[in-house]
Amino acid sequence: MTTHPCAAATCHRTLRDHELTAHQTLCTPCVRLLGSWLAEIPTQIIVLEGSRQRETTSAGTGGRVAIRTAPLPGRPDVLNLLGPAAWTDVRDPHGDQHGPLPIAGVLIPWVRLVSEERRWNPPASLTPQALCAWLAAPRPLGWVSRRPWAGDMRDELHELVRTIRNTTRLRPQRRPITQPCPRCDDLELVETDHQLYIDCGGCGAMFTREELALAARITAAALEAGAA
Ligand SMILES: [Zn+2]
Ligand SMILES: [Zn+2]
Repeated sequence: MTTHPCAAATCHRTLRDHELTAHQTLCTPCVRLLGSWLAEIPTQIIVLEGSRQRETTSAGTGGRVAIRTAPLPGRPDVLNLLGPAAWTDVRDPHGDQHGPLPIAGVLIPWVRLVSEERRWNPPASLTPQALCAWLAAPRPLGWVSRRPWAGDMRDELHELVRTIRNTTRLRPQRRPITQPCPRCDDLELVETDHQLYIDCGGCGAMFTREELALAARITAAALEAGAA
């Protein structure tokens, strides 16, 4: 039997039968990760905007500054990340760009690729927030998961999210949930910021909040029936 690895170089999963049937090249956990990064980036941008604001204000006090202070760490990174990018920007093949690419500059080529392949209207605005929302919608994300280049996109967005997190020093928080896993009964359910799914550290299953609420009601009803 031949196995089909997930298209992402940094993922070691093999595609399951239902993923192959759906013509996915990217495994479902990777698709969900992509969705959670696209949800996280707009929140991270609020923090980036905040630090740009603070630094601009303190630098704009006027007058000649007698003592040259060292630039605040991370500031060029923040400006780079928030920098504009055009729809027709070409990639920087010679590495002339200093520092990280703007967030919009990383997202635009992927949005453009999907909208051109599918002849879908691109987002009206090219802000990173609009680009994230456009890519994270079910249809574009579903199309991405079946493309041969899906792994490249997943790894590139992962790199972008890591760069942003290193700049803001803000990482999604994970919180344990005090409810046994509906599948394996282990107390290892964890919820993570920006993620649609709560995952079980025991069996690897993923649940929505609604599914867990339903499972809790079923357990309570079963206990009540048992006690009666
Ligand atoms: Zn994967
Ligand atoms: Zn479990």
